[in-house]
Formats: sequence, structure tokens, C-alpha cells
Amino acid sequence: MSIKETIDFRKQVVEEVLELYPEKAKKNRRQHITIKENNECASCAVKSNSKTVPGLMTARGCAYAGAKGVVWGPVRDCTHISHGPVGCGYYSWANRRNLAEGEIGVDNFVPFLFTSDFQESDIIYGGDKKLEKIIHEIVGLFPNTKGVSILSECPVGLIGDDIESVSRRMAEEIKLPVIPVRCEGFRGISQSLGHHIANDAIRDHLIGKGPGREVGPYDVGIIGDYNIGGDAWASKKILEEIGLNVVNIWTGDSTIEMLQNGHLVKLNLIHCYRSMNYMARHMEETYGTPWLEFNFFGPTKIRESILKIAAMFDDSIMEKAKTVIEKYDAEMQKVIDIYRPRLEGKKVMLYVGGLRPRHVVGAYEDLGMEVIGTGYEFAHGEDYDKSMANLKDGTLIYDDVTAIEIEEFVSKLKPDLVGSGIKEKYVFEKMGLPFRQMHSWDYSGPYHGYQGFPIFARDMDMAINSPTWKAVKAPWTK
Ligand code: SF4
Repeated sequence: MSIKETIDFRKQVVEEVLELYPEKAKKNRRQHITIKENNECASCAVKSNSKTVPGLMTARGCAYAGAKGVVWGPVRDCTHISHGPVGCGYYSWANRRNLAEGEIGVDNFVPFLFTSDFQESDIIYGGDKKLEKIIHEIVGLFPNTKGVSILSECPVGLIGDDIESVSRRMAEEIKLPVIPVRCEGFRGISQSLGHHIANDAIRDHLIGKGPGREVGPYDVGIIGDYNIGGDAWASKKILEEIGLNVVNIWTGDSTIEMLQNGHLVKLNLIHCYRSMNYMARHMEETYGTPWLEFNFFGPTKIRESILKIAAMFDDSIMEKAKTVIEKYDAEMQKVIDIYRPRLEGKKVMLYVGGLRPRHVVGAYEDLGMEVIGTGYEFAHGEDYDKSMANLKDGTLIYDDVTAIEIEEFVSKLKPDLVGSGIKEKYVFEKMGLPFRQMHSWDYSGPYHGYQGFPIFARDMDMAINSPTWKAVKAPWTK
């Protein structure tokens, strides 16, 4: 098919799928779907960051998921209270693979669930007293905790509790930061506002309030890397090899001290723009700390990023950067030589959260694969604008895609691989389609950096070329 035919066909597919809806829903959903054509302005073509249509089975989560699950939960030496009834904390307990070092229960509390487990009486009389009691219990049982965060679930904001005043009182009493986070799930329209609220809590309660330190000439921070399957460690390794000194990671394998001293670096490197741009901007405006976006998925993007980062420092760093690129380009070429022939020409459809739908495209292209459809759960206009340059004409782009849409798009566009989340995985595998989880890395990873790319390539090959797919149909139905 020519590009024009492809675009026309995909436009027709979109119209057919929209026909499944009642008029009002159709009008709404049409604004969230487009086909890339002539490098148009994405934020004009795709409506984003708006309310989900009720009843259409969105894959989105809530502000609590964005604040507790994404930003705060990975901070390892802080205890995080899921404040409210037991469900939200229980379902978000240890299922995001933000790895952290340290002794579990001693100075690493990431795999724990702390909840105030609201009962009816807490809803009627309020949960503030219970919260105080829990904070006392926590510091008694876990004396090494360096701070306590309070992640509000829906009821807390609805019953008029004053977690801010509890936090102030308790911080004085226990002589540790106690951080109230107003991330009740009814706020906003997705995880995205939770990121913003969580960033603001770091701004209001931690940044600039720590012990401080001297800033070395090569000190950098990684912002917005949650260390899924060890991603941040793989990124740190590269930066250190080019001569930089990674003193902070936000927030994968992070500490309270790192959040307090985040501004005390020469440069902040931001991987997940969506979840952390607020704090990157704040540090620049308030403390003059510059920041730079980078992408450590796949050798092409890594190479571009290393050169961009090194250009911010002196010649000695640039020299080391070039040596590192030369060394690893040769290694990565070996990976490409093995996997590219097995994956060349394969088509991929993606649906992830707020960064990966554009950030992983280069890694697939390094393997000769083509992304024919992609979309975000909770991106904003600027994310779609950033995406356009990375996508080929004819790419189907969908925002807050519904269950029926993604199912129909996939069955009509027939990709060779779908990369999305756990809620999608088994639907497509039952359709006989190779699938890789692009949130949890399907319990594999890391995928970032030179350490990650060989694993990424192996995993994609393993999914696509698995003999299982030949056995999907019963022999007598073939
Ligand atoms: S929407 Fe409310 S109840 Fe549901 S997970 Fe989020 S905070 Fe919990």
C-alpha cells in the first residue's frame, strides 16, 4: 500500500470504530484520535488531558496512582501511608517494579504497604486522630524512617480531614519531614494531576530544606526515572562512565535527602518529562538549576542523548562520551546483528502512560521494526507535539483509548506485536498476538541504557518468534 492508501485505510478504520458509539460519545472520541499526516501540529489534532467518557472502559488510573504509585512510592527510606480505606493501598502494593537498594524494613520500605484502613467510624468522626497514632506507631516500629508521606485516598478530601495540620504537628513531634499529599482519586482526570500534586508536595515540604552539600563540577541528577527493573541503575552507569557524578535519582531508588538536595547539581537530566517537568522547572526558576530532556531507549537515542549531555560540560567529558559511544556502539551492533534479521519489518502498536509511547520508538527502529500506532493514557498537548517528530506518516495516534477501540484497531491494523499494560495483555494474547508489557517490562528489564537494549531486543524476539503462536488454532480448524 502507498502512504496515501495506508492513511485512507486507517482513517476509514477510525470511522468504522467510532460508529460503534452513541452520537455524544462518538463526537467526543473523534477528537482524541488522529493519523499522522504532513507533520501536522499534534496538539491541534489530538485532544488530550480531558475527562474520560463514562462507561467506555478507559485504562486510566487516578491521582492517587500518579502520586503514590509513581512519584512517592519509590522513595526508599520514607514510609508512605495510603490514607483511607484498604483497597487503593492493597491494589498498588508492590506491583510497580521500582527497585530500590537497602535492607527491607530497615532502611528500605518500598515493598511495604502502610494503610490507615479506614472504617465507618473514621468516615463519620474523621481520620486525623488515627493518622497521628499511625505515625507514632511507624516511627516506633521503623526507627530508621527518614520521613513519612501521607497519600490521600478519595474519602479524605470528602470528609473534611485536615491532614496538613496533622503533618505540621507530627513533623515537630517526631523531628522528621511529614508530607501531606492531597492526591485523592477524584482530583483531575487521570494519574497526571497526581504527578503534579506529588511534585508540589516535594516543592513545599522538601526541596531546599535538607542538610545541603557542596556541588561538584560534574554533579548531575536523574529526574523522572523510576528504576523499573533497574532502569535508573543502567542509566546511571552510562553517565558515570562518561565522567559525570550522579548524586540524585528521582524517584527510583531515591531517598529523602536526594529530594531535599535535588537542586544542588550542575544539571538535572529529565527522562520522564510528563511526571517531573514541574519540579525541573521549579528548580530552574528558584535555584537556577538547568535541566535537559534525554532518552536512553535504544542505541540511536542513547548516542544522541550522550552527545547532548556531554555538550553541557567540558572537553574531558565530551572525549569520554565519544569513547563510551564507540565502545558500546560496537557491542550494540552485535545485538542488532543477532536480532534485526528476526524482527526486521515487524509492525508494533503501543499504548502506555505518559512517556514511553514516544520514547521507545527509536529502540524498535534500531531493530528494524515500525511503530504503526501509539497513544497515551494521560499525556498533555506538549507530549503529543514531542511525539510527532518520532513517528512516521500514517501512524495511528489515540489518546485515552477505550477497550473497544484498541481491540478493533489492533484487529484491523494487524500489528505483529502489541506493547501495553497488564489490562490489555491477555486480551491480545487470546487473539493470538504477541504482546509485551511496556509498564512492568513483563517482569524483565532493565530496558534503559546499554545494559537494557540487549534485554529489550531479546524480549521482543522472544514474544514475536515464540512457537506458541503457531499452536493457537486447533489443527482441525486450520
Ligand atoms: S479513585 Fe479513589 S478509591 Fe479509587 S484508587 Fe484512586 S484514591 Fe483509591
